[in-house]
Amino acid sequence: MKIQLLSEQTINKIATGEIIDRPLSVVKELVENAIDAGATHCSINLERGGRTLISVSDNGCGISKDDLQLAITRYATSKLPDENISNIQYMGFRGEALAAIATAGKLKISTKTCESSNAFMMDLSNGASQIKPISHRQGTTVEVQDLFCFMPNRIRFLKPESSEVVACKNLIGALALGNPQIKFQFIHNQKEILNGRDNILDELLGEDFLQNAIPFDTGEYYKDIIRLKLNGYLSIPTYNRSTRNKIFTFVNKRFIRDNFINQLIRQAYFNTLPAGINPSIILFIELPTECIDVNIHPNKSEVRFSDERLISNAIINSIRDRIKDARSISINRIENKSIDNRHNIAYMNLPLELRDIESEIEINDIHRIKNSNNKVQLGQAVLQIADKYVIARKNNSIILVDQHAAHERIVLETIKDMDFKVQDFLVQLEYDFGDTENALLISMSSKLRSIGIKITLNNNKILIHSAPAIPGHLDIITLLKDIIENEVVWEEIFKNHLDDILKKIACYSSVRAGKKLTQPEMQSLLSLIETTEFSSQCIHGRPTYLELDITTIDRLFERS
Ligand code: ADP
Ligand code: MG
Repeated sequence: MKIQLLSEQTINKIATGEIIDRPLSVVKELVENAIDAGATHCSINLERGGRTLISVSDNGCGISKDDLQLAITRYATSKLPDENISNIQYMGFRGEALAAIATAGKLKISTKTCESSNAFMMDLSNGASQIKPISHRQGTTVEVQDLFCFMPNRIRFLKPESSEVVACKNLIGALALGNPQIKFQFIHNQKEILNGRDNILDELLGEDFLQNAIPFDTGEYYKDIIRLKLNGYLSIPTYNRSTRNKIFTFVNKRFIRDNFINQLIRQAYFNTLPAGINPSIILFIELPTECIDVNIHPNKSEVRFSDERLISNAIINSIRDRIKDARSISINRIENKSIDNRHNIAYMNLPLELRDIESEIEINDIHRIKNSNNKVQLGQAVLQIADKYVIARKNNSIILVDQHAAHERIVLETIKDMDFKVQDFLVQLEYDFGDTENALLISMSSKLRSIGIKITLNNNKILIHSAPAIPGHLDIITLLKDIIENEVVWEEIFKNHLDDILKKIACYSSVRAGKKLTQPEMQSLLSLIETTEFSSQCIHGRPTYLELDITTIDRLFERS
């Protein structure tokens, strides 16, 4: 096989493949350019899911006539004036997008700067580039017709129109959240999908999201010299949805889809959500530009952090801190509709239990209370029903407590805080994790020792001399494997392993449903709930208590 240099045309096509793989990526690049241009309006117009037309119009700074040719030249950009790629201030910096788009479809750019009294259009749709005067207000309109007409094999890989439109809606919505100074409008096949007037959060996460979300804002905090700030909205753990894509993360306003961050979020919610259930989250991370590297992937949707540990601690701790006092749910809307309970299986039990109390009542629509940061107050225990639920009275509210669910959580949170002891093995365990993995573990041996795990290397195998002594069985090998794979978050992972074991113990040492409780026992259960973290959800993510306040009771009797 003889080696040959590829032609410019082929090089362009290969490069394009990385940046532009579907209409969504064109929309992303063009909208990011509008953001970089300082626009306050940005209108996105698609036909046939972007296959026949993608047009993005902004009122930003525009491109001067002299720069038009450069704008579509690969590796030409106005966004790295000092060529310092460790200090990226704009969404773009690679100077590749317009060049790539021109390789994939028929590109036209119409633009006017504020300095110029004339507007110009560059038309590349016939291969050759032509620049001619036109009329256009200040700003830029980039139009792409027949995407992939120059790379027809891509067309076969396109997703259906509708999934492209949904993906674009999510993307534009996310960019709108990160850039509140810009009014976005998104039109598909002449139908308006998003408009700056809409509440973007409702559009992206559903109308009930805000009612079930906790706003959070860490303010600025420093570690050494790194200034970091996290803010956004977190769904309360009982607001369960199975979709994964309701996690919107931004790093310095850049919308990213990053596995590392998603993993941290899951860690933060660990133990409060059932398996397979994901939280809904808006998370803005802000830190100095020199502490992140965005130059990881051509489409710039991943970043790397110079201090991953700082980020993981900050995210995990601040989210856990915010959700631990999340109150459970209350019933605050009752209408004559059938039960619409798509989002929360936990509620399915509720109408039945209430029927135990008031058999005539039909409860149809149940909403969760907006969380407050207040500590839980559950009032005075009054009675127990079905040997399963404790009923308490608090001022003008009735509180219903699931005794087993609540107690499970209490046991878990209590034993979690107990210090574990170290157990020396009489016969050391021996395991080969692989050469590099063994070496990694050895490099971490002093940290491991601090949590009771003593290891040495012997004949290319790891010898395990001791482990933390906790009740139940600890699968130390799996634990070490996890530590190898998730080195950065290993402390949290380790806690979770303990939690896994502790959870089991909690299940077996809890007050079971079916146990009769005396009044003092009921009261002490309530006060334990009041003082235990995460006590509004059981360890499987179901609510542990519900509050029926006077407004709701009035409504049940049709008094409101
Ligand atoms: P990058 O954004 O990485 O610089 P692009 O290929 O997306 O690369 O754009 C090349 C250049 O064209 C930009 O650096 C910018 O100067 C100019 N440009 C592109 N889109 C716009 C726009 N909507 N408004 C103003 N300038 C633009
Ligand atoms: Mg760009």
